[in-house]
Amino acid sequence: MKYVEYEGMTFEPYIFRDTIDARIKELGKEITRDCAGKSPLFICVLNGAFPFASDLFRACEGINAEITFIRLKSYEGTGTTGTVKEVMALQEDIKGRTVIIVEDIVDTGHTIKQLIDRLVVKEPAEIKVATLLFKPEALVEDVNPDYVGFSIPKKFIIGFGLDLNEKARDLNDIYILKEN
Ligand code: IMP
Ligand code: MG
Repeated sequence: MKYVEYEGMTFEPYIFRDTIDARIKELGKEITRDCAGKSPLFICVLNGAFPFASDLFRACEGINAEITFIRLKSYEGTGTTGTVKEVMALQEDIKGRTVIIVEDIVDTGHTIKQLIDRLVVKEPAEIKVATLLFKPEALVEDVNPDYVGFSIPKKFIIGFGLDLNEKARDLNDIYILKEN
């Protein structure tokens, strides 16, 4: 088993790259089917969602989709801070459009809820949420992601965009914190 270490913590492989790839292709097919003729705008939530958004966007070839970016920050270390900072704002006019928020992970749901609330006032036609990972047991907000890559237990994970204090985003597989 190929363990990795960050800040004195050990992580073990959890979801491998080929499994992630296959699942993203399936999600791409679903979105392509649901959003045909709608020319959706993908909103990639930086920093964590960028590898997922890159693959998902290209898995939706042919529906005339567009992509843009917003940057939010809510985590410090391995715990959520509860407050979501908008570090880089949305520039596009989304009025009347189908918007697909692309997130790396929905944990408590605070981030996605606050983002949805901020987008709703801009009057899009609809807002959908695509998240690579979802921790149903950690959810405290009333949100229900439309496209979920993998539902996982309430544990800390890294890799494929997910970080520990900005490190580990480059890992090609997803790793989970090892318990001793
Ligand atoms: P939420 O607001 O609690 O749903 O947290 C969402 C954000 O926290 C995500 O966009 C991630 O950036 C970060 N996050 C939540 N869980 C994890 C994790 O297990 N590893 C790394 N980052 C996480
Ligand atoms: Mg994130």
